[in-house]
Amino acid sequence: MVKTRICGSCKKPTLLPVSRKRDPYNTVVGYLCQNCGRKINIVPAFSVGNGLAIAWAVLGFWYFVFFHNSVYNSTLSISLYAGAVVTVVLVWGPECLRHWMNPVAKGGDAVEVKLEKEGRGSVTSVLIWCERFGFLGGLIAPVVFASVFLSVAAILGFINYTYFQ
Ligand SMILES: [Zn+2]
Repeated sequence: MVKTRICGSCKKPTLLPVSRKRDPYNTVVGYLCQNCGRKINIVPAFSVGNGLAIAWAVLGFWYFVFFHNSVYNSTLSISLYAGAVVTVVLVWGPECLRHWMNPVAKGGDAVEVKLEKEGRGSVTSVLIWCERFGFLGGLIAPVVFASVFLSVAAILGFINYTYFQ
């Protein structure tokens, strides 16, 4: 179910979700304004949060590698890093802006949107299930995923150590 939004052009709560397709890393919902006919594609808030969290983790990691404990920072490493930050802003900035300009309509209807045939699969189903958790859910999803992964690894290591050594 996808909620209707307020149209960024005519400010009416008539921006209805009409299509949903699968991109490599997320789904994209196509909206059509029933009042002014404006079309817009919006990446669900969950995936925006998810993308930002991953970008932030990667940038944090490279910040640590490049600049932690280093007295001399080369122009190259600084420019590369600045380039990466700009890329993140260019990729996710417009997505955030679209959510900002076309906010979810309060008290608006939720509409069932069919997924396009070629994008169907178990990964897409999981993605769509996750989208209910919204922006904050997307932000913490990588942390949850990493914790689960590390706990499973720790349990397997413990079992291996306890029973097979
Ligand atoms: Zn409109």
